[in-house]
Amino acid sequence: MTYEPSSHPDQLSPETIVVAAGRPAREHDAPVNPPIVLSSTYVGAGQVVDGDRAYGRYSNPTWDPLEEALSELEGATLPGLIFSSGLAAASAALSLIPVGGVLVMPKHSYQGALVMAQEQAAKGMFVLRTVDIANNDDVIAALTGSGEKAADMLWLESPTNPMLEIADLRVLCSSARAVGAVVVTDNTFCTPLVQTPLELGADIVLHSVTKYLAGHSDVILGAVVTSNPQLRQDLHHHRSIHGAIAGPFEAWLALRGLRTLALRVERSQATALELARRLEMHDGVERVLFPGLSSDPGHERAKAQMLGFGSIICVEVAGGESAANAVVEALRLWTPATSLGGVESLIERRRRHANEPDTVPLNLLRLSVGIENLVDLWNDLAQALEKVAAES
Ligand SMILES: *Cc1c(COP(=O)(O)O)cnc(C)c1O
Repeated sequence: MTYEPSSHPDQLSPETIVVAAGRPAREHDAPVNPPIVLSSTYVGAGQVVDGDRAYGRYSNPTWDPLEEALSELEGATLPGLIFSSGLAAASAALSLIPVGGVLVMPKHSYQGALVMAQEQAAKGMFVLRTVDIANNDDVIAALTGSGEKAADMLWLESPTNPMLEIADLRVLCSSARAVGAVVVTDNTFCTPLVQTPLELGADIVLHSVTKYLAGHSDVILGAVVTSNPQLRQDLHHHRSIHGAIAGPFEAWLALRGLRTLALRVERSQATALELARRLEMHDGVERVLFPGLSSDPGHERAKAQMLGFGSIICVEVAGGESAANAVVEALRLWTPATSLGGVESLIERRRRHANEPDTVPLNLLRLSVGIENLVDLWNDLAQALEKVAAES
């Protein structure tokens, strides 16, 4: 079966691409949705050549429409590559650093990616320089090496997890390029509907498809997207040889979730902005981190490179760690759980994770705003904050 790109990608808007991309070719009686193909191997005899399906670790027809759709959304010229998880995709990306090379990474990167980089650096595979990603001078000094070796890879995440710092993507991508470093941007928090890093100068975009793209907290999956043929070939080779491949069912579920991405992002972003404004006025909250607030240090930069501000909010609760825990316990609608980007609103105190950097405040709660009714979400937050304030 062949899949159609959404015919004229450069003329379609992202809201249409999420619906139209990766459909089976329009033939009489063809299914509207791609089928799930469950096969570990493919018929073939004679010499195996590039492009042959050959074996299920190299390719699967169920991956193709999702890889096509992600590529179109990120504005890439080559199909994306899906992996068994976001961290499997991160592992493939980190493998591009030459032995003894230098990686520059935000100190508030997604915890799993940061731990992976720290462990590999500790084994001597490369040198890790962690930086304040919102500070251009700090990042550029780490890239050039100030007398030491220049960087081989710049890892970007913007907004960062969980401090929601905004990196100056245009400036940092061009600074990385000037020293010959490959730029990987984790675009999980934004999705390609809110930010397109390849267009801002990145070489590789990485996603935890688990989050907004799949959108229903029922799939673990990752992806990378690049327009660079050599990088794509290396990443594809890593996936085939290391074996962190996606299950066909997960790929199918993720594409099904992607169809409603535009509606979900539109709703959750609008709700997040209003909740952030209300939280900022609330006495039970010491500080709100959200790039959509004009008081936020990343606000102007976010406006210059994002279409919206995403739907993750972090708050520092008045009364410290115990008050933050009590707020989570007092909620009835918000679900206490890690992860983000699903239709349901989730909340957690980040420092409950042992590996969370100690620069993340103990009283910080991360909120992943879902698509429920704004008033219902607010009422639940307000009753929990008031209950905890009354008890302290
Ligand atoms: C969840 C997440 C990851 C890791 O993805 P998994 O699918 O859980 O492996 C990487 N980066 C960010 C920003 C994430 O939120």
